[in-house]
Amino acid sequence: MNRDEISDAILNIEDGVLWDVVEARDVAARLEQAARAIGDELLVERARLCGVTMLMRTGELAAASRQIWSIHRWAEDHREPRLLSRLHLTWSNIHQFLGDSAQSLEHALKSVQMLGDTATPFMEIWHRLKLADALGAMGSLDAARARYRQTEDFCQRLDRPDLLLWVLNNFAWTESAAGEAARAQQIVRRLQQTAADLGTDLPPTVLDTIGAIEIENGRYADAERTLLTCIERYDDGRLEDADSLAEYLLTLARAQRGLGSADRAQASLDKSRAVCQERDLGHVLVRVHQEQAELYAARGDFEAAFAEYKVFHTAQNSLYTADREAQARTRQAMFETAEAREEAERFREQARRDPLTGLLNRRYVDEQLPGLIQRDPLLTLAIVDLDHFKQINDRLSHDVGDQVLVQVSKVLETELAAACPDGFVARMGGEEFLVVMPATEVTAAARVLDEIRSTVASHAWRPLTGDLPVTVSVGVTTRSQASSPTQPSMLSAADRNLYAAKHAGRDRVVFGLTRTRRGAATAA
Ligand code: GH3
Ligand code: MG
Ligand code: MG
Repeated sequence: MNRDEISDAILNIEDGVLWDVVEARDVAARLEQAARAIGDELLVERARLCGVTMLMRTGELAAASRQIWSIHRWAEDHREPRLLSRLHLTWSNIHQFLGDSAQSLEHALKSVQMLGDTATPFMEIWHRLKLADALGAMGSLDAARARYRQTEDFCQRLDRPDLLLWVLNNFAWTESAAGEAARAQQIVRRLQQTAADLGTDLPPTVLDTIGAIEIENGRYADAERTLLTCIERYDDGRLEDADSLAEYLLTLARAQRGLGSADRAQASLDKSRAVCQERDLGHVLVRVHQEQAELYAARGDFEAAFAEYKVFHTAQNSLYTADREAQARTRQAMFETAEAREEAERFREQARRDPLTGLLNRRYVDEQLPGLIQRDPLLTLAIVDLDHFKQINDRLSHDVGDQVLVQVSKVLETELAAACPDGFVARMGGEEFLVVMPATEVTAAARVLDEIRSTVASHAWRPLTGDLPVTVSVGVTTRSQASSPTQPSMLSAADRNLYAAKHAGRDRVVFGLTRTRRGAATAA
């Protein structure tokens, strides 16, 4: 597969709503391999995020949480807004599952804020929809409504009427969860009209939402019809969550109990229970017990209802404990990975700093400089070396020498930060520093470096070094002068100029053909 084919195949999962989860997981794993084979890191991370989404769908949340951090870090390091936006959406889902609505909302908001101009139409709609859901879950009903309406507009504008079905589905569900049964029913009418306009059948999960809202509104006959259609369309359930059939049968049973058809309700409930037992669906099973108790009560069998209610209660308690444990495991996984990540970042940072002066070190230079040289035609480099530094060590002490190095570092950093905020200073070793100035014209660089030179020379050194002056010599090179724009050739050009500065008497700045002293540029 080539790059575009892999990318399209990943996009198909990324921008999908209904997946065959098992199949999508395998596809994502294969695409990850294919992306690795062609060495495309972004595609690898995108495929991995698809894998995380599927892990969540199969309930393997702790595993999902462990994986998502490394994807997150990559996306941040590479400033990939589209991947980051999708990541925040996944985080939002994880927190929602953990019952942390506030965190879920925060991530949903970020996922919308990061949409940027690379977002797909699907993302424009879906991320806003999830934000509306998260607002609804936090009880901010008005804010949620505004967002749902905005999302509806996006479906129109971006010509994705198919997604409008999901928007209206979630909108109706949020209204219903907030106890707004009548409003929910109104949205259901629009949902049905939209499906009719599109000429599509409503997917089973949407029908289940509609049925539940019809029950809320006491429209039991409509609800039974809706759920019968829902279950008919369930088919083999490849595109469904593991528990959806059991859920649909349960909703059907509730509609039938409402209708007063106790026998039909019992038959539906028995089927739901059988599916729960076959697939080990603890969450639905608890509600099957609850519905069974209601059904016994509706038949007037209060003794059985009471016994069943006790079963419900016990099952609910143990489920609650199991949920808490699963949540704790996931949080632990999240926490451990976050900690490991911070630790790694600290080490990484430490490995790039010089311990004496706190400046960046040669390692950092080796990582950053080649790229800068490649990208920036106006890059200027300067090697700054202390003059007669050996004397300071010999005549005073090594400790004083260290303090001089620290103070010179401060001067370099402060001066450069003021004159060239994008630049940096590194300690290359000993008493030698590298000043890196991106996008700087030669004349501007000359001014800055001479300013650095004179600031070092006029610094109040007396308290530290007595009569011994502290000065620096500077060898400069620019990319435009470089015979070949590589790190070794540019550094040795700067070194040659440094040598020339030393030779000419120190305390000066030398640029290839141009030599300056105390601000005066003279031809060599
Ligand atoms: P020049 O003007 O030609 O550069 O003379 P110089 O004395 O500065 O040059 P030289 O390279 O001969 O000496 C550099 C000295 O820097 C030698 C070494 O002892 C000292 N030095 C290197 N690293 C450190 C350090 O971390 N602390 C201290 N105090 N001295 C150091
Ligand atoms: Mg020196
Ligand atoms: Mg030296």
